[in-house]
Amino acid sequence: MTALRIGIVGYGNLGRGVEIAVSLQEDMELVGVFTRRDPATVSTVHEQTPVRSIDALESMQDEVDVLLLCGGSKTDLPEQTPLLAERFTVVDSFDTHARIPEHFARVDAAARVAGTTALISTGWDPGLFSINRVYGEAILATGCTYTFWGRGLSQGHSDALRRLDGVAAAVQYTIPSQDAIARVRAGEQPALSTREKHTRECFVVLEDGADADAVREEIVTMPHYFEPYDTTVTFLSAEELARDHQGMPHGGFVIRAGESSPGTNQTIEYRLQEDSNPEFTASVLVAYARAAGRLAAAGEHGARTPFDVAPGLLSPKSPEQLRAELL
Ligand code: NDP
Repeated sequence: MTALRIGIVGYGNLGRGVEIAVSLQEDMELVGVFTRRDPATVSTVHEQTPVRSIDALESMQDEVDVLLLCGGSKTDLPEQTPLLAERFTVVDSFDTHARIPEHFARVDAAARVAGTTALISTGWDPGLFSINRVYGEAILATGCTYTFWGRGLSQGHSDALRRLDGVAAAVQYTIPSQDAIARVRAGEQPALSTREKHTRECFVVLEDGADADAVREEIVTMPHYFEPYDTTVTFLSAEELARDHQGMPHGGFVIRAGESSPGTNQTIEYRLQEDSNPEFTASVLVAYARAAGRLAAAGEHGARTPFDVAPGLLSPKSPEQLRAELL
């Protein structure tokens, strides 16, 4: 078996997770990390992982089978995915839901002209959750689909807290409402408002002399971010924040509640619980790298999303093995 040669483009939380996840695969080998920064300033999880400038990819088309793009969705991936799809098989985890159709069109155009394969928006949401929303709707034609996130660290909301005057450091967790989940599981098919679905927990380290009540008031009334939710604010010391809030947990539920005939309730539930969001997302990307390599080898060119990838293509096992062991 020839190992699938993987390159990592962009080395942040997700890139680090991909480095770890690739090392767990027997059918893959890591060519290296490609970064926009000075490679000498980037230290990797595994000492032996080569770090090169992203410019080195110019001459490496024959040395890499699949590039895993680990840049941010806001500005990196809209630029990097179509550009690199002109020369490589690529996989990304573009997660700005509203802009996925636009991103798909740009990547598809580049990949079709180049004759490459580009798998976009893998990960867990979008990604595994999206697939489960499709299964739910396709299988239970009558019903409602619910997505609950958390308990999880929200990067955007944590950033919003850190920008406030008087705040030295902060994290924010999104918590799904257990009451709402129970109602959905019971087959009620409730119409849930934003406030009824999730609550927000903030852990804040104040700057010296800051007014705690004023900071709390500013947080809970912040439009869009916290005002639409029941939000709690806990003040703590920098030491406590460092000790108790280092991880990046996340997860959630996709639930489809429907009826196959009047009064006959049917529920499909899919749950993820992640100690580390980037390491979990990276594990998904790596499985999709295998699928992307197979699609490319089969001459399936253009952009694809997780909806277009057969599950067996993700597995290192052969179709024969899968039929015998997992069907
Ligand atoms: P980071 O901010 O950690 O990294 C993004 C990029 O920033 C890196 O690729 C890296 O590029 C650069 N960078 C990282 N660290 C530094 C640094 N110290 N100084 C300067 N530049 C740095 O983002 P994440 O890895 O946490 O997330 C990446 C994306 O993953 C998110 O934007 C999101 O789109 C996606 N995601 C998708 C999920 C899904 O379920 N679909 C779930 C979670 C995340 P370079 O090395 O070139 O400098």
